[in-house]
Amino acid sequence: MAVDVAQHAARIETILGSTSKIFIGGEWVTPASNETIESHDPGSGTFLASVPLGGAEDIDAAVNEARRAFQSWKVTAPLERAQHLWRIADILEAHAEELAFLETMDTGKPLDHAKNYDLKSAINEFRFMSGLAARINGQAAPMATMPGGTFHSFTRLQPLGVIGAITPWNFPLANTAWKIAPALACGNTVVVKPSEETPLTTLRLAQLMVDAGLPRGVVNIVTGDGSTGRALVNHPGVDKITFTGSTATGQHIAKVASDNMTRVALELGGKSPNVVFADADVDAAIAGASAASFWDSGEVCSAGTRMYVERSIMERVVDGFRSTVEAMPIGHGLDPETLIGPLISGKHRNKVAGYVDGAREEGLEIAFGGESLEGDGNFYRPTAILGAKSDSRVLREEIFGPVVTIVPFDEMNEVLTAANDSDYGLAAGVWTSDMTKAHHFAENVEAGMVWVNCYGVVDPTLPWGGFKKSGWGRENGEYALQEFTEPKGVCMKL
Ligand code: NAD
Repeated sequence: MAVDVAQHAARIETILGSTSKIFIGGEWVTPASNETIESHDPGSGTFLASVPLGGAEDIDAAVNEARRAFQSWKVTAPLERAQHLWRIADILEAHAEELAFLETMDTGKPLDHAKNYDLKSAINEFRFMSGLAARINGQAAPMATMPGGTFHSFTRLQPLGVIGAITPWNFPLANTAWKIAPALACGNTVVVKPSEETPLTTLRLAQLMVDAGLPRGVVNIVTGDGSTGRALVNHPGVDKITFTGSTATGQHIAKVASDNMTRVALELGGKSPNVVFADADVDAAIAGASAASFWDSGEVCSAGTRMYVERSIMERVVDGFRSTVEAMPIGHGLDPETLIGPLISGKHRNKVAGYVDGAREEGLEIAFGGESLEGDGNFYRPTAILGAKSDSRVLREEIFGPVVTIVPFDEMNEVLTAANDSDYGLAAGVWTSDMTKAHHFAENVEAGMVWVNCYGVVDPTLPWGGFKKSGWGRENGEYALQEFTEPKGVCMKL
């Protein structure tokens, strides 16, 4: 279906109004910096909007406002905070259609994904954290070294203060919700720096939070690029940085933040194994692998980009995978037929293509895909590579595009060793009808999230985060509360 992108792009201004300001203290303010960055539709290259490239002065203003708001937000009754979060969820739900539209225009992802995954995930996060806001409890525990009745001791979980949230471009709204919702539930205030590639839904969120009655300054938003993010990390008034993005940027942030001893939580890259045993429901595994590898064009931190398939079913899986994937329509995210959208930018597509070209030069076999699509938009065909060695770049490095390696294996220990032979440890999948194998794999694989006979199912109760170079800390679940509070011990002599 032909999509009239120009007409859709014009709708963005109707939804957002002017995008020339940043959001500080509950108001749209003119930034001190007069530099701007442009957002383009990845599916056509059409210009969408120009937003401020915030500088250090803008970050300073936002952090000061968040600090001011913290004084009252931290003592707001927990049930009142819970109500605010619930109202934000309600207003997101009421505006789900326009938010999904903005997300698709900005990221290129299929509209159905934006609506039924990204939006739902953001809404669920606000509702779930609303439920936890009044349950942020310390403990009362008898002291181990003192006779009973001589002391009363307990712990408190206190908010940290001002949280700096830096987000990537693949799930802009969902990732922002995963940070804002628990931070606010715990009594912190926030300054958000969205990705320069995808600022639109975060800007809309700002206005919706005002409409939902969130007090001024509790959430502030400064658009910009890496330099804006650096200013946030450097700011001595920020108590914690919560970052989602690449491992290289995360490592840089950890080093810089240590100058002020600013706390850091890092949700970073992945290169996740997806293992198919011969006793699995093979058709379900093939369908699951298609989503695991190519959902949102593989621009997913937890994508199952290293497939390991038991040798006896290798041919069946590769053939089935090829025919499933080749039937997936590639196109603009607003076309309802589309299952595979474009990559975020021309630069990123070149990077992805470079990895596949490198695999060819290494003599690896391209089972399907392996090329860009002609015409407008940053499209690249879903690609599978056979014959990768344990030191092949395509098997070791995060490509962050629609590229999967498929490697055969013969037995459990061999595949566990291969699965764990990675710098990353974000997620893993296993397909088998033998629950003993499933448990053994789940226990021994080095990954923060393990899926058995499914892939990519995310729920606000489950911790999200990585082993090894996939990060520090966890989002979601009650684990997120630990990330946004500081424990304090109180010891009273009776
Ligand atoms: P990126 O690291 O290039 O950028 C992420 C954010 O950091 C952007 O907002 C960017 O402006 C900002 N930034 C860049 N340099 C900075 C600096 N020096 N200081 C402070 N901020 C800086 O990542 P990306 O390309 O936007 O996103 C893709 C990466 O994100 C992939 O590696 C992917 O695996 C990862 N990711 C991880 C998760 C997770 O939950 N673990 C989720 C989504 C994406």
